[in-house]
Amino acid sequence: MGIIIKSLQEISLMRQAGRIVAAVLQTLIKEIRPGMKTQELDAICAQELAEWGAKPSFKGYHGFPGCLCVSVNEQVVHGIPGERVLHQGDIVSLDLGAIFQGFQGDAAVTVGIGRISPQAERLIQVTAEALMAGIAKAKPGAHLGDISAAIQLYVESRGLSVVREYTGHGIGREMHEEPQIPNFGLAGQGPALQTGMALAIEPMVNLGGWRTRVDADQWTVVTADGSLSAHFEHTIAITDTEPEILTTLPEES
Ligand code: MG
Repeated sequence: MGIIIKSLQEISLMRQAGRIVAAVLQTLIKEIRPGMKTQELDAICAQELAEWGAKPSFKGYHGFPGCLCVSVNEQVVHGIPGERVLHQGDIVSLDLGAIFQGFQGDAAVTVGIGRISPQAERLIQVTAEALMAGIAKAKPGAHLGDISAAIQLYVESRGLSVVREYTGHGIGREMHEEPQIPNFGLAGQGPALQTGMALAIEPMVNLGGWRTRVDADQWTVVTADGSLSAHFEHTIAITDTEPEILTTLPEES
């Protein structure tokens, strides 16, 4: 099928979906606290999405039971919201996809619960910065591999590792469109980037080794060595100038 180039009108619809994702994540970050069960976050998420008139992308996707992926500590991605109670010192990755007027937004953020260790702080910071390093390469004339390589270099030069089995993706009417966007690779390789491409870029970064395995619940991805993991994601659009982050709130004036 190839990479789908979006019109300005389609990008503007994606901007609305993206803002909803950003707003709901912001609410979740405000509400998250020690003693909370991860399913309480999912319930808030479901209610917020309904208020926005948006639908959750993940619920029912290959049978996923939640609106939100909640991945704690050594969990990398795809954590199922449930009975688990959050404690001070945990780090929690929240990954949310929403559909609004036929278009998808997808974003993730990792937050600490109360005081967290300096290593956890650093892991979160490096992962957030690696996402921005990748986004900065998303310009016409560059190649997909420029994004991948920028993320890998940023992470590995700081002594952390990037998960290899899971990737970012094109996004639009479908949550997962072409191309896949690995968080490692070589600059100058892969398809040429052009205005109108919409990409969900999402580095997953481990404090230890890059290898992962899938938990007994068949969903939750965990680090193979049990080390902490963080995940940041934005949906972006490539424009003639700077990349536009769609999963963000408009600047407050
Ligand atoms: Mg995604």
